[in-house]
Amino acid sequence: MKPLLHPALINGPFEDPGLCVEIKWERRAILFDLGDNAVLEPAKLLKVSDVFVSHTHMDHFVGFDHLLRIVLGREKALRVYGPPGITDSVEGKLRGYTWNLTEEYPLILQVTEVSADRIKRAEFYAKDGFKRRDTDTLPFSGILLEEDMFTIHACHFDHKIPSLGFALKERFHININKDKLAALNLQVGPWLREFKEALWEGRPEGEYFKEFPLGVLRDRIATVTEGQKISYIVDAVYNADNEEKIVGLAKDSDIMYCEAAYLDKDRDIASERYHLTARQAGELARKAGAKELVILHFSPRYKDDPDALYKEAMEAFTSLSLPSQR
Ligand SMILES: [Zn+2]
Ligand SMILES: [Zn+2]
Repeated sequence: MKPLLHPALINGPFEDPGLCVEIKWERRAILFDLGDNAVLEPAKLLKVSDVFVSHTHMDHFVGFDHLLRIVLGREKALRVYGPPGITDSVEGKLRGYTWNLTEEYPLILQVTEVSADRIKRAEFYAKDGFKRRDTDTLPFSGILLEEDMFTIHACHFDHKIPSLGFALKERFHININKDKLAALNLQVGPWLREFKEALWEGRPEGEYFKEFPLGVLRDRIATVTEGQKISYIVDAVYNADNEEKIVGLAKDSDIMYCEAAYLDKDRDIASERYHLTARQAGELARKAGAKELVILHFSPRYKDDPDALYKEAMEAFTSLSLPSQR
C-alpha cells in the first residue's frame, strides 16, 4: 500500500531535532521543529506549508531564518504554530532584518500561538515589512489543523517551560486497486486524484463520478483502511502528568518519534534538564501501543556509543513486563 505521509528526520540523532513529513500527493511538506535545517534542499523547503514548533530553545528554532530566506519570494502563505510566546519569537526574528525592498513580495506568515485553552493568531505581511497584525483568538480543543485528509493534534508537556508534542493523523487511507480499475475499463489518470479528494471531502455516496455513484465506485475500485498516525514528542521531563499526556497523544501511532536524550543511568541529569531517557522513551512508546519507535535528540555525552541509547530504548519498547520506574 502506498502511504500518504512520508516522514524523515532532518538531521542525525546528535544534531538538532526536526522531522519533515512529505505529502507527495499534494507536493507539500510539513515540518516539526525548526532546528538547523540547512541539509534540506530548497525545493523541499519551498513545499513547506505548515511548521509546528515544540518550543523556542535554540536547537528547535534556529532554522527559522533559513526557511524564511528560502520561502521569502513565494506566493503561498507559511503557517507557524508554537507554544505561548511564539508570536513574539517570530516577531523578534523578523525585527532582526531590514525589509525596505519587499513591497512586491506576496508572502504572508501566519502564526498560531497555542496555550492550554486558547489559540491566538497573528499575521505578518512581507509587503509591509512584516508588521505584526494580531488577528483573532479561538478556543483550543487539542486540534491545531483539520483538513479533509488529516488532522494535527497538539499537547503541552512540562519542559520547565511548555513544550508542544504533535500527532499527525491521516483520516483514512484510500488504496486504488489497479486490477479492479482495469476490469471496469477505467484508466489510471488525474481523475483518481479527484476521486480520492471526493472521498476525503465526504461528498454524498450517490453523487455521480465517472458513470458510477461515488459509493459504488469506491466499493469497486478502492480499499479504505485506517489512516497513518505519526507522533513527534521532544523535550519533556518524565513525570506522571507528562506520561499520561504523551501516551494519550501518541496512542496507536504507526511511528512515534521521541527524544531520548540520556541513558537511564543518567536519569537524574535527565530529570534536572527536563529531558527523557532512552528507557523512558521506550516505555512511553510501549504504553502508547506505537508500532514503531524512532528515537532522536541524543546528548553529545554519548557520541562514542549511540548504540547504548538505541539498545536501551528498544529493550524498554519491546519488553513484556513493565519495569519499575524509580
Ligand atoms: Zn528544550
Ligand atoms: Zn532540545
